[in-house]
Amino acid sequence: MTVLRYHRPTTLDEACRLLTDGGPRARLIAGGTAVGILLKEGLLDVDHLVSLDALGLDGVMEERGALRLGATATLEAVRCHPAVGARLPILAEVLGQVASRRIRNVATVGGNLAWAEAASDPPGVLVALGAEATVRSGRGERRVSVRELFQDYFTTTLASDEVLTSVRVPVPERAGIVYIKFTPQSVADKPVLGVTALVRPGEGARCAEARVVVGAAGPTPLSLPDVDAKLCGEPLDGGAATWVAERYAEAARPVSDSRGSEGYKRRMIQVLVRRALRQAWARAEGTR
Ligand SMILES: Cc1cc2nc3c(=O)[nH]c(=O)nc-3n(C[C@H](O)[C@H](O)[C@H](O)COP(=O)(O)OP(=O)(O)OC[C@H]3O[C@@H](n4cnc5c(N)ncnc54)[C@H](O)[C@@H]3O)c2cc1C
Repeated sequence: MTVLRYHRPTTLDEACRLLTDGGPRARLIAGGTAVGILLKEGLLDVDHLVSLDALGLDGVMEERGALRLGATATLEAVRCHPAVGARLPILAEVLGQVASRRIRNVATVGGNLAWAEAASDPPGVLVALGAEATVRSGRGERRVSVRELFQDYFTTTLASDEVLTSVRVPVPERAGIVYIKFTPQSVADKPVLGVTALVRPGEGARCAEARVVVGAAGPTPLSLPDVDAKLCGEPLDGGAATWVAERYAEAARPVSDSRGSEGYKRRMIQVLVRRALRQAWARAEGTR
């Protein structure tokens, strides 16, 4: 029988060394809400678990124009942090919709992103805000946009010896931002679809910038900057918003499952993208 060794390094260098030495037989663990299930179900075949909880990566720091979230900050700690409430209330709103408080009390920011589950709430808003992850390994430090972190279902561009250490989230100025989590059953469910819209008002009743991200409708969060650009200089109650919503519904790759057919989900994407844009516009109007 394999003996699973649990390591609790107190420095990042030590954590990186343990990952390098363990190679594919070592796995990071943060809150353990995903890793715990894999272990219990016998789906994780490793010799070493490397815990991140003694590294002091759990802070939320204010920076110029941004907030930096430590990778091991729990979703609930971020949600309740005064700086998040004051400067990025949309993040608190989104995190408040993840699972239950019991899960949020242990699930971490870094674990949520590294797990790369398609049906996840936080990635959409982080992509829309242009968040950037900092990653460390024995080879040094690198930065990667959260958008580029996701590669496929449960697959990121992180190498097995890399530790995501923090996420820098820009605070948008004069913009309205909305997240709509679509779950026909319990609100504590994972999203069937999750639509984020960010809108910056321009001259008159026209839009200066828009960003849409559709989550849970394919392997990775879907954003189409060229399509979003068509909203620039346009009113959000006109045909441009309908056109944008149709492009997202076409480009998405939802799968039929017990929570809805592919066709139903595509139709809902159209509805929800338009709704999110409208609601984001209403919020943006309040920032004028
Ligand atoms: C009952 C239940 C309900 C849920 N509902 C929702 C929901 O409604 N919405 C939603 O969005 N999510 C939901 N989730 C998913 C939950 O958000 C994730 O399981 C959680 O965020 C993972 O974080 P963790 O810290 O527990 O990660 P862990 O389980 O510790 O790790 C997950 C993966 O990430 C890797 N990892 C962890 N930290 C790092 C790091 N810093 N750097 C590199 N790799 C790392 C681990 O090696 C592992 O592969 C739910 C989960 C459960 C169990």
